[in-house]
Amino acid sequence: MPPIDTLTFDLDDTLWDNHQVMVKTETGHYAWLDEALTAWLSPPSETPRAGFTERFPLESFVARRQQLARAHPLRRGDFTWIRQRALTELLMEYGLGQDDASHWAARAMERFMALRHQVEPYAEVDALLTALAGRYRLASITNGNVDIARLPIAAHFRVSIAAGEMLAPKPDARPFLAALARLGSRPSRALHVGDSWREDVLPAQRLGMQVAWIDIHDKGAARLPPGVHRLRHVSELPALLARLD
Ligand SMILES: [Mg+2]
Repeated sequence: MPPIDTLTFDLDDTLWDNHQVMVKTETGHYAWLDEALTAWLSPPSETPRAGFTERFPLESFVARRQQLARAHPLRRGDFTWIRQRALTELLMEYGLGQDDASHWAARAMERFMALRHQVEPYAEVDALLTALAGRYRLASITNGNVDIARLPIAAHFRVSIAAGEMLAPKPDARPFLAALARLGSRPSRALHVGDSWREDVLPAQRLGMQVAWIDIHDKGAARLPPGVHRLRHVSELPALLARLD
């Protein structure tokens, strides 16, 4: 087996705990929109109409996104597009004209993105990536809509792939192949690090990459496929790489 000289990393729930970030982002930008719209629509002299989130609670926004993802299968991984389109539709149904609806959907998405980028990589991650970058070619591959260029962690990666926006979300093989091609590497020399069995482990393993499965939820597996290694946390990666050497 050729030595490993390339590492590709999933981001959400691999390098940081994404769950809390998404809860705060989802509720935070929707509440912001509700408040901003109420202020915009209701001069003090007028009787305020039913609030936007009163008419469309968070669940109806979620349902609209799911409906759009089903109706536009090619866009299913482009969460930013789906969110903005869903907001625009709901705002028009709320009574706004097309231009105002687009404007407020865009403002809400700016708020969403500001909150979405308040991620805190695990404490060990910066030193870990600094050390690994001295020895391996590093790429990030995410299905999420985090713009890695907005985070300090971006400096560690030679290549960053936003798979949803290239309309080929993992488990599609294309984002893995794109990352390896841009790094001048190939699957047999590469190890992918990720938490999702379906989106990280299976596609990378099928391509012939080694895989460090970050089993944060401690799901375990009866038998790991060849080339798949189970870790509980990304901080265990250097020990695995030393074993594989
Ligand atoms: Mg993940």
